[in-house]
Amino acid sequence: MSNSIQQTKEFQAEVKQLLDIVINSLYTDREIFLRELVSNAADALEKMRYITVSQENIKDKDLPLEINIELDEKENTLTISDTGIGMTSDELVQNLGTIAHSGSKAFLQHLAEGGSKDVNLIGQFGVGFYSAFMVAEKVTLLTRSYKSEAAGCRWVSEGTGNYSIGEEKGLNRGTSIILHLKEDANDFAQDDNVKRIIKQYSSFVPFPIKVGDEKVNTVEAIWTKNKNEVNEEEYQEFYKYVANAFDEPMFRLHFSADAPLSINALLFVPNDNFERLGFGRTEPGVNLYCKKVLIQQQSEHILPEWLRFVKGVVDSEELPLNISRESMQDSALISKLRRVITKRFLKFLNEQAQKEPEKYKEFWDKFSMFIKEGAASDFTHRDQLVKLLRFESSKTEPGKLVSLQDYLDGMKEDQQAIYFMNGPSREAIEAGPYLEVFKSKDIEVIYTQEAVDDYVLKQLSEYEGKKIVSADQENLELTSDGNGDNLPEDKAKELSEWLKETLGDEKVSEVRQSKRLVESPAIILSPEHTTMSMDRMMQMVNKDMNNISPKIMEINNAHPIMKKLSELKDKDAELAAKAAEQIYDNALISAGLLFDPRNMVGRMYEILDKALD
Ligand code: ADP
Ligand code: MG
Repeated sequence: MSNSIQQTKEFQAEVKQLLDIVINSLYTDREIFLRELVSNAADALEKMRYITVSQENIKDKDLPLEINIELDEKENTLTISDTGIGMTSDELVQNLGTIAHSGSKAFLQHLAEGGSKDVNLIGQFGVGFYSAFMVAEKVTLLTRSYKSEAAGCRWVSEGTGNYSIGEEKGLNRGTSIILHLKEDANDFAQDDNVKRIIKQYSSFVPFPIKVGDEKVNTVEAIWTKNKNEVNEEEYQEFYKYVANAFDEPMFRLHFSADAPLSINALLFVPNDNFERLGFGRTEPGVNLYCKKVLIQQQSEHILPEWLRFVKGVVDSEELPLNISRESMQDSALISKLRRVITKRFLKFLNEQAQKEPEKYKEFWDKFSMFIKEGAASDFTHRDQLVKLLRFESSKTEPGKLVSLQDYLDGMKEDQQAIYFMNGPSREAIEAGPYLEVFKSKDIEVIYTQEAVDDYVLKQLSEYEGKKIVSADQENLELTSDGNGDNLPEDKAKELSEWLKETLGDEKVSEVRQSKRLVESPAIILSPEHTTMSMDRMMQMVNKDMNNISPKIMEINNAHPIMKKLSELKDKDAELAAKAAEQIYDNALISAGLLFDPRNMVGRMYEILDKALD
């Protein structure tokens, strides 16, 4: 090929500065240069495809649109060619000798803040081409514009202060970039390695990428298609690819949006929750793309942490341009994207819950921990998350669930609050004294079994204007219909005072007559704004039975035991005291709190001894 004179030109100062860093840093991920060059080639092809439909008189109109990679291990070169729009000589100078936009400045600033490990973000700052100099000691670029009158060009640089540019005859349309690889970068002339990198970063580029003669990218970027253009099988296939899964997903959400942001997303809920099964913390599973080119695998930015079980891809055209103007960490764009996608996904879950309650229950059984985590920690999405919560209740059959809305719909006309009760199991909750007043009034009580449930409900404090109240709280403002006659008032007062004194301040802060009990002689209650589940948790953590705060004890003065105790305390103070302690311990047991079994066993024998006389 005959070349005319090559002209030497200086890089713009900013480019020099950038190249200096790129060439001299130590990188962990320098293979990303290939992603950047493929992405440039794909952009050029995309533009070509667009121009072909709208213009006549195009150079090499019939060339297939594709990317070719040739490797030469002997010469230690990697050549990447595309049949895209190419560049004229002016465009070359403009595009690769200067930086028109603020990209390099932002990138330089970012590197100064974060260190060279962040070099792999180079593409997001709109200066990806220069990453070639991470692996090449010299770059030769041959290009021929699609404009029929333009001449072909040769551009050569070693990445130091300048480059040479001149005419090149006999080129077809498009761009070839020959990387003369550094000594220590010879693995980028190896077939297997290059194929692996292409598969990792560029599988979905919508033009064939050939390494040698083999087409390497095979999986289609179905998320950018219309829903009706994708069949079930393709979805399954893609899910297996993106989630590294062997089974089928539980749910699938495929959506696109134009406003407020352009988004194409394909999200999956897997069939199982491996975190729940004890496989350790689930890593985020959504990959971030810009126009089908991978920006970040398993991105921790694109969804909130509590959606880490979701798999799939999010693709937004707006991503790189905007990100180049700000630093990655506090990108307002990413936050906005995250908000929009999260809202959409939660709306989707809610729709599924309405449409297919059975399936939603399956989801809930496996993934509820994440929804609860969100409800407990993420104020932005709390309203939506609360709608997804499900509980067993006193009115459901075991294993059946209600939402807060269901509960609301079934409320009594004059009912003041939404009630819940925590306990280790349905049976344990129902065996205790706490439900008596609710049963007597036919009021539904939500059952919770985990501390996080209580935490979420406490935090929420009301739903649709109704207070949410723990059933073990004092001051319920509910009165049962009772069960027989109470002790006369003076006797009752005397008994309360005696119990308070006998049990002592450490155990009870107050003993009073109950309005809520029907079957049980006594009950332990939490002072307002606390719940028993907190005490239970503290006891579990500290393994200490004596560190619970004093409780309020309410007694049922219609109960035969209380009536008898009222008499006994004057006749046999010693036995009466033992009975009082036993009643207190029993109430603790009903509250799911620990007690000291050594004292209890001895005391029981003493009581038995008397009883058997
Ligand atoms: P960005 O791709 O974000 O614009 P780059 O540094 O990767 O930044 O590329 C700079 C510019 O060089 C591109 O915008 C494009 O105009 C031009 N360019 C790079 N590679 C090619 C190519 N293969 N074909 C045509 N133009 C290219
Ligand atoms: Mg680029």
